Amino acid sequence: MARIHILGAGTPTPTPTRFGTSYVIEVAREQIMVDCGPATTHKLVKAGLWPTNIDYLFFTHHHFDHDVDYPCFLLCRWDQSTGKENRLQVYGPNPTERMTEGIVGENGLFAHDWKARVNHPVSQRVHVNRGGTLPRRPPDVYAKDIGPGKVYSSADWEVTAALAEHVQPYLDSLAYRLDSPGGSMVFTGDTEPCQSVVDLARDADIMLCMCWDDQEVMEENGEAPRQCGTTGAARMAQEAGIPGSRSWCWCTWALTCRDTGRWRRGSETSRGSMMDRWCSPTSYWPSMSSSQWCSFFVKRIARHMRLSGA
Ligand SMILES: [Zn+2]
Repeated sequence: MARIHILGAGTPTPTPTRFGTSYVIEVAREQIMVDCGPATTHKLVKAGLWPTNIDYLFFTHHHFDHDVDYPCFLLCRWDQSTGKENRLQVYGPNPTERMTEGIVGENGLFAHDWKARVNHPVSQRVHVNRGGTLPRRPPDVYAKDIGPGKVYSSADWEVTAALAEHVQPYLDSLAYRLDSPGGSMVFTGDTEPCQSVVDLARDADIMLCMCWDDQEVMEENGEAPRQCGTTGAARMAQEAGIPGSRSWCWCTWALTCRDTGRWRRGSETSRGSMMDRWCSPTSYWPSMSSSQWCSFFVKRIARHMRLSGA
């Protein structure tokens, strides 16, 4: 069974407890990260995960609330490695390759750091004490700029990308679908409701969808274009067939704008319990239609999270 860790799903606005976006998916004994927003590396460890165990990273787009911890993650993963780990593979829209080279390349912004750790005797000793051998190798990351289509496939899982509609032409944005025997999950990244993401998410088990605010508020303050609000997110989920007619299916998609923490389907965490409680339409509001409930559900989730300060 696949497991999703929501490391962060906030906005660019800093708060004491909430951060920008990052998820980790555990599937088939591998750990796959989607986005690397503020404090991702710290939250990764708080969640009981470890940088050197993440072998894949997929960027939805390069707004800073989705990628600003990338230097920290790259350097931590390299620094903690003993040289026996798998090579990190990073995929995302342009400029994923340029950013990677610009951070840890031979002349990257942080080259002074890894060159000092490679060459100074004390750093070499730390490396050897961790189980590494000398000479210490520089960071080695496979980074690739990608567009829509099949992005990666292994024996156990595959990732497909679709165009998301966000702030083009200034930034390209992608949504991802990860299919595995443990289920199909979709990460919309930042997008307005659009057919390409609906098609990508068709009949998935879970969709983690961007949601900026209550739709009414966004319509009123002019923030509705180029991003999803409550009803926009609900409509995409409904059109993709994610709520469907199965009784449990309401539990299988989640809004991610106002949450931070860890949730996985069927978990007993407080966040999971909260989700489960809100996600039982037939128990609580059996008279509502799918459409009504979809809208109602997302609003309740958003309000609950706002009130709880999450
Ligand atoms: Zn964005």
